Order: sequence, then structure tokens, then C-alpha cells
Amino acid sequence: MTLLKPSTPMSRRALIGGLVAAPAVLNFGRAHAHTGAGGAYLFPLGVASGDPWPDGFVLWTRLAADPIAPDGLGGLNGPVEVRWEVAADERFSRIAAAGRVAADASSAHAVHVEVQGLNPGRPYWYRFTAAGQQSPVGLARTAPAANAEVDRLKLAVASCSNWEVGYFSAYGHMADEAPDLTLFLGDYIYEYSRTGERAATNVRNYGFEEATTLAGYRNRYALHRTDADLQRLHAAAPCLVTWDDHEVLNNYSGVWPDRQGKPIDFVQRRAAGYQAFYEAMPIRRTRVDARLQMPIHKRIRYGKLAEFYMLDGRQYRSRGACIDEGGAKGQIVTDAQCADRLDPSRTFLGFEQERWLYDGLARTEAQWNILGQDLVMAGLRFENRGDETRYWTDTWDGFPAARDRMTQALHRLKPRNPVVLAGDYHSFWTNDVLLDSEDETSPVVATEFVGTSITSGGPPYEGLMSAMPANPHIKFFDSRVRGYFTMDITPDRMTTRYQAISDVRDPKASLSTLNTWVVEDGRPGAQLA
Ligand code: FE
Ligand code: CA
Repeated sequence: MTLLKPSTPMSRRALIGGLVAAPAVLNFGRAHAHTGAGGAYLFPLGVASGDPWPDGFVLWTRLAADPIAPDGLGGLNGPVEVRWEVAADERFSRIAAAGRVAADASSAHAVHVEVQGLNPGRPYWYRFTAAGQQSPVGLARTAPAANAEVDRLKLAVASCSNWEVGYFSAYGHMADEAPDLTLFLGDYIYEYSRTGERAATNVRNYGFEEATTLAGYRNRYALHRTDADLQRLHAAAPCLVTWDDHEVLNNYSGVWPDRQGKPIDFVQRRAAGYQAFYEAMPIRRTRVDARLQMPIHKRIRYGKLAEFYMLDGRQYRSRGACIDEGGAKGQIVTDAQCADRLDPSRTFLGFEQERWLYDGLARTEAQWNILGQDLVMAGLRFENRGDETRYWTDTWDGFPAARDRMTQALHRLKPRNPVVLAGDYHSFWTNDVLLDSEDETSPVVATEFVGTSITSGGPPYEGLMSAMPANPHIKFFDSRVRGYFTMDITPDRMTTRYQAISDVRDPKASLSTLNTWVVEDGRPGAQLA
């Protein structure tokens, strides 16, 4: 086991950070003799960084010789020694931290390095070397010190990238924005492949069976990461990630897959999806535990300016409301049809995550408190067909008692400037989150921005718009465009831009700003700029 001698002093914590897989390193012979790669380039999946903290971040790569080999192992077998370097300059003349880790088949040759001992609030460049080959160079940033005054933070926020229905030009434009941090709010992959007539409109095919196994999920992430635009985005900035349903299965809820599936079978499949997610993402170490759960929710502080709560709105949920009666995984129901929806024992985040969140919101000192999560929180009442109100059960609308607990906590704890972010709906929304979602006169407790999809098709625009008169707290809705949003955050204001691409079928689509929203400090609710 050798560690490079760093040019700046390395703390003991920094050393430990590099020794993620130390014991295996001792077993190496000549690394390249064991890869089975036959001289192939070992970094076709690029590099990534994430979960920044004041003295470090996670560095990620996954070695592969044949990224989508059917066994999910990327065409490699034995362990490979990987060297990582973090530098204070782009030319790597000032190495700030370095080390060696083992990549092996148990994690499909994915590498996670939790770097520590760096300086807060500054850029660093990083790269990997294995078997004499060098990875692309990535740009990461440490978070500012916890008590630092931060003038400005720029985010780019994405969700829902279906490989088959479009090119990832939106990801390329996000990279061009040079954000400090990117957020991925779920549906990073889709577990299914389009079939029949729908497949005829694909711009490119997954070319796999529906993912149900570890190999299947691994190969979907691998295929996405061969995309040049997505690779460029991950190399441009660290990210925070959460998941939604399609990282495992459409509209699953907790341990329940759908009306017929049994939890005892589904949790095995879910665990495979979760493991592949961890392997593919630059996130702090987590693992599938004995209960077949894998916690991913976390708080990330960005100086005094912002605190991020990355939430998991899938793993700990109660079963979808009235699944037996309706026979669908997500459905639109009235209260007469589905009293179950209103059951106060139902949970959306799981009671443990709820408690953790409220505890954080009670103690936060940040200027902006940002809830990064997967599903739209503000209510949507469908009242356009007859007089009885109906609700879509897969979002927070399927869990109104859990939402009431959330809005009451926001109202009671009064964290400064709470802002909710969501994806999933393949459409832009600007919402006031109300204390009582059924009472338009009740106080606004948070601002919500919902981002449209990178590629995935949006819901019917006319149909949704006809519901909007019954929902004045939804200030804006548009499902006709694909793209993402950016947020410029300063102590006084948050400026959100809805960025739309010209054509999802054009790999070189152009970008335009659909509109811009401003949230002023101390005043919940966004205003059109
Ligand atoms: Fe989606
Ligand atoms: Ca979804």
C-alpha cells in the first residue's frame, strides 16, 4: 500500500479518506495483468463528484472495458488498483490529496473516494489513473465553512432522463452553465424499455430487457454514463442526488410494487436497484442493510447561505392509496372512492425521516432551507370533470396527512426561507405550498419549484391547464417543454430560471429561458421577474 506524498500536509482524516478499500490493495500483482480488459480504455464512464462538505467531497468513477457487458460487470474481472489525485490547479502541479483504492467486481469496479482534509469553499480538480491509463479530469468544489458568509451559489437542477425518448442536450447545457452544484431529483434512469408502437418513436434504444436484476440496473446507469453530455455535466460540478420511482419500478411505494406484487419478492428487486444506484452515484458510503433498506437522505450545509435536505420520497412510503380497489399503481380518485388516502397513519417520508427532517428544520441557521426531493408537494385538485374533487395518488396528494404534518412543521418551526424542489411530473410548476392545501386563504409556508424533464414526455397540457382554475396556489404550469432549471442564490434573493431546450430529438438542441422567478428573503412565494 503506497500513498503519494502530497505537496501539502495531509491530515490523518485525509489519509483515511483515501483508504476506502485498503486491504484488497495489498493483494495486487501487476494491476493491468488482472483486469481482463485487453488494453481497452478503462474510463468510458467518465468521472463524477458529489456530497461536498467543507473539507472534501466524494470522487467517483467506474472502470469498464465493455460498459454494458450482459453480466453487468463491465468486461472486467479481477481487482484493479486505482490511483486518485486532487489538485489545487487544473494542471495538477499542486496536488492537495492523493491515494490508491481497489476497484473490484463486488461493486462492478465502481470507485468511491471520500476525500477529506481540503480547504473550504474552493474548486479542486481530480483524476484517476489505472493500468497506466488516465481518466478525464473533473472539477469539484468543497462546501464553504459552516459559518462562512457566502455571497452567491448557483445551482442547476435536473430530473427524468429517459434514454430512449430524447438526447441529453439539456445535460450539456447544464454543464455550460458552470453551476457550483447540480441536483438530480430522480428518474435518472428508467427501468423499462419502450415496446411496440411507442418504440418506433425512440431516438435511441436501451436495447435491454426491463431491469429487474443488479446486472440490469447496472447496465442502465452504465449506458447513461457513456453519454458525452451527461459525462461533461458530472465532470463540471459536484452533485447532490436523490431518486424517484424509475430507479427501481414505475410508481412503487415503499415495499409495495403494484397491486399484485408481494413485498417479499419486490424488496429483493428494490435492493438490486438501490445497490446499482449507490455504485453509480458520487455519494457518501451507504449500503443495503439487513432490512434491505439503503438510506440516502442527508443534510448538506453551504455556509450560512443554504442548507440542503435531500429527501427520499419512495423508500419508506406507505402503500399507494386504494391500490386494491382501483387496480392501478397510481390513480386519480375521489374521497368517496378512496377514504384510505386520508388515513392519518399513512407516511410519505417514513416517520424516522420525518423526525430527522423536523429536527433539522428546528435547528437550522441557514438563510435558505432547500428541500431537494422527488415529488410535487403542493396539492393539485382535479375539478374539471363534474363537481367531485379528484386527486392523483402517487405524489404528496396521495398522502395528505403526511403533507399536513410537513406543512405544520414548516409553519411551527419557521426555518428561514424554505424552498421545496421536485421533479417527476415532466413539467414546470411554480407553487405556493399552503399550510392547509384545501384552503387557498391559508398561509404560504414554502415556495416550490418543479422542474421539467431532461427528456421524458410531459402530461397532457390542455388537460392539466383545465384543472388550474381550481388551484390558484399553482402560479405557473407548463408541460410542453423539456429542460431543467437554474437557481442563483444570494442572501437577499433566489432567482430561478426555467431553461427549455428547442427539441428533445435534436442532439444539438438550443436553449432558451422560458421565464424567471424571484423569491425575496423573508417572503415565501415566487414572483415572476
Ligand atoms: Fe420521470
Ligand atoms: Ca417518477
